[in-house]
Amino acid sequence: MSKRLLLCTDLDRTLIPNGPQAESREARKYFEKLAMLPQVTLVYVSGRHLALIEQAITDYSLPKPDWAITDVGTALYKHEGGQWQPSHAWVQAIASDWSGNTHSDVQKLFSDIGDLRLQESDKQSSYKLSYYVSLKVDKNVLQSQMDLRLKNERIQANFIWSVDELKNVGLLDILPVSANKRHALEFLMSLLGFEFCNTVFAGDSGNDLPVFVSPIQSVLVANTPDDVKAMALRESEVLGLAKAVYIAQGGYRGMNGNYSAGILEGVSHFFPQIDKWLDGYEHAAL
Ligand SMILES: [Mg+2]
Repeated sequence: MSKRLLLCTDLDRTLIPNGPQAESREARKYFEKLAMLPQVTLVYVSGRHLALIEQAITDYSLPKPDWAITDVGTALYKHEGGQWQPSHAWVQAIASDWSGNTHSDVQKLFSDIGDLRLQESDKQSSYKLSYYVSLKVDKNVLQSQMDLRLKNERIQANFIWSVDELKNVGLLDILPVSANKRHALEFLMSLLGFEFCNTVFAGDSGNDLPVFVSPIQSVLVANTPDDVKAMALRESEVLGLAKAVYIAQGGYRGMNGNYSAGILEGVSHFFPQIDKWLDGYEHAAL
């Protein structure tokens, strides 16, 4: 039985209850109790940039994490003494995918493509290029045009498409191919000496799938859309990784399984000793 836990969670609609489903009243208090235990190293894993993560910590009274993987996996920060320290080792690990090119070089490659509208500067980083794209644009045609230009420069990139439903516009992030939540987590696990058996990740959406379909023990909170649940189960089964996926059902400590209640339920599934820790027996166990 491991005496420490790497607790990793997505923020929007996983820890942060900003979806249409209800949050159980006491769920975040339990989560905070778990996160604050000395045995637990807390990691936030988010598409948000650092300032927006800090905003969420304030707005939703979230516990301060020990680490943050931000900007869809393109940046890693250690939080210590109230300061955020960027991990240069992680930047080095992903930079080679772009063969010495950074944001401005890649941006120049696409400057004549009228369908791409650059997002605001606070949404860009050295290894993340973010555009708005009209929902009417044929994504496949646009992506193959861009792909060709990247290949000519020996740039290995991932295209992450999503939709801002409030603004009714498409979003496109272009990232180094190894910069995703899964690789960033595996990098952090090896840096801190954690293994699959004492690491748990929680998420809720399509951009969490690379972690759901991996050997990393993963929780899908109950409010995860059904198609994401089905895909995570199906793809994990094909790869023989079904035991590393848990879908929160509700019922844990009388809570509904949404958001942080789901995180706790999943952590308890993979790591039953947290129940003793939460009930205050942790000192007897150590
Ligand atoms: Mg999310």
